[in-house]
Amino acid sequence: MMKTKRSCEDAIANIYLYLDGELGRIHTAKIRHHLRHCEGCLSVFQFEDHLKQVVRDRVREEPKQEVIDRLYAFLEDEEPGFRQ
Ligand SMILES: [Zn+2]
Repeated sequence: MMKTKRSCEDAIANIYLYLDGELGRIHTAKIRHHLRHCEGCLSVFQFEDHLKQVVRDRVREEPKQEVIDRLYAFLEDEEPGFRQ
């Protein structure tokens, strides 16, 4: 079994590029191969992937006009003249 510390480091170092699909095809295949054999890295990747999903969902639902209006109202209370 090929499980070196170095490939773990490589996998973790490139986790965001991997999850964003910004790694080259060969590098992606290499990491995918590593994940199949390394449970430690796999759980980290799954966690980060989940986290990314949560953040993405939250960002998508956030910019409601109502929320923005409330934020402006709040800021104006705190700091009169904020809107100038
Ligand atoms: Zn690993």
